[in-house]
Amino acid sequence: MGTPYRLVIFDLDGTLYEFPANATNFKTTKIYGEIKSNAIKFIGLRIGVGKEAASAIWDTINAKYNGHIATGIETEYHIPRGEYLSKVWDVKAETYLKPNLKIKALLAAISKKAILSSAPKVWVDSALKALEIDKMFDYVATGSENSRKPHQAAYLKILSHFDLPPKAAIMIDDDLEFLKGAKDVGIDTVLISKRLEALPPFVDYKVSNILELRKLLL
Ligand SMILES: [Mg+2]
Repeated sequence: MGTPYRLVIFDLDGTLYEFPANATNFKTTKIYGEIKSNAIKFIGLRIGVGKEAASAIWDTINAKYNGHIATGIETEYHIPRGEYLSKVWDVKAETYLKPNLKIKALLAAISKKAILSSAPKVWVDSALKALEIDKMFDYVATGSENSRKPHQAAYLKILSHFDLPPKAAIMIDDDLEFLKGAKDVGIDTVLISKRLEALPPFVDYKVSNILELRKLLL
């Protein structure tokens, strides 16, 4: 089957690799555990407080800024977001992620593809390298940029890079909020999920594993 899509936009975490069975999302992975521990160390050093106080600051910011720690730290403590992200998210991805030959083959068969991740660039670069797919994408957009999912500008920037209308693109993501953002600008959507769930109207297709995209896109 031919595909009407000329551009496939991929999320990274939970999309281009699966979370372990005991993790339900990125925040429950060991990767995020390491990131959180880096964050508490960073807050302690940078603000000049002990570990317990730093941990309490993390909790407060996490709740107040809905998990957007870097933004909260910047707003409340005037520490640049970029500095926080590059230090705290500097995690060795190869400790957690291994290349998958079938996923590499699938990606190789898709002609035009981009990454749109909300994770910081330092993590995206490290993860793509660990998965050995860092040379495979025509365009990589990360959470280190000003426009991030689910804001329309993040999706529109990619479309304009390729000079394509929304209807020519399809977005693959494991996060419903980010698929809604894609649909809001007119991009078709694929949810990656192993759960049996009623699909909201902004989800066009659902697959339980990225390899099932073969049927849909090739
Ligand atoms: Mg994801």
